[in-house]
Amino acid sequence: MNLVDTHCHLDDEKFSEDLAEVVNRARESGVNRIINFGDRLATSNRVVEIAREFDGLFAGVGIHPEEAFQMQKSDDERIIQLAEDSHVVAIGEIGLDYYWEKDSDRRKLQREIFIRQIDLARQLHLPICVHDREAHGDTIEILKREAHGIRGVLHCFSGSLEIAMEAIKLGFFIGVDGPITFKNSKKLPEIVREIPRDFLLIETDSPYMSPTPNRGKRNEPAFVKFVAEKIAEIRGESLDEVARYTTRNAEDLYSI
Ligand SMILES: [Zn+2]
Repeated sequence: MNLVDTHCHLDDEKFSEDLAEVVNRARESGVNRIINFGDRLATSNRVVEIAREFDGLFAGVGIHPEEAFQMQKSDDERIIQLAEDSHVVAIGEIGLDYYWEKDSDRRKLQREIFIRQIDLARQLHLPICVHDREAHGDTIEILKREAHGIRGVLHCFSGSLEIAMEAIKLGFFIGVDGPITFKNSKKLPEIVREIPRDFLLIETDSPYMSPTPNRGKRNEPAFVKFVAEKIAEIRGESLDEVARYTTRNAEDLYSI
């Protein structure tokens, strides 16, 4: 089997003791490629370092909406420099988080920083990895208005089927994570069943979002196979088939 974990955070301190073992376990499970995403300048720097260290690892660099208020104009330059490394395959994760941010001025700032980084992605000819939590309407509106000619993914998708279809119309992929395996997952299985396979990506968001049967524990890239298995079950496809097309989609989007 040949799987890609298209979204994780192996720079997290939860991996500081056993990163090499985690990467090895992923390979043993057929997860041959892993894309790590930064959320600040420091972590963006770190995910590039990790990508240089291990075969099959890649990086996305960018400022997460929860960190947006810390971003300086000069940080754009640093992101551009980081993106020059051949391991960098995306700008991300970027986007909007209205779950954690209730203040309207700070939400406005999130939108500005999101748009600025979409512009950076255009300049750098890179796709974007979008974090959208309880901000589906504004996210889609910004993508429609600002992201012409840019490809990307709505990572850890949590919107409705309508939002998923709108994103797909814009050429965006839908990233599916551990919650698809949860017993109380209702909307997501329907979305996964309905959307065309050419727009599905699998991801873990490690160390978060651990799928059943490891729910509540530290997540790691090897567990992306549980997400693939669940998608296969929901769509009535074989695991091999799901592995084949999600890997092809990841290769297509991120040019890996
Ligand atoms: Zn993430």
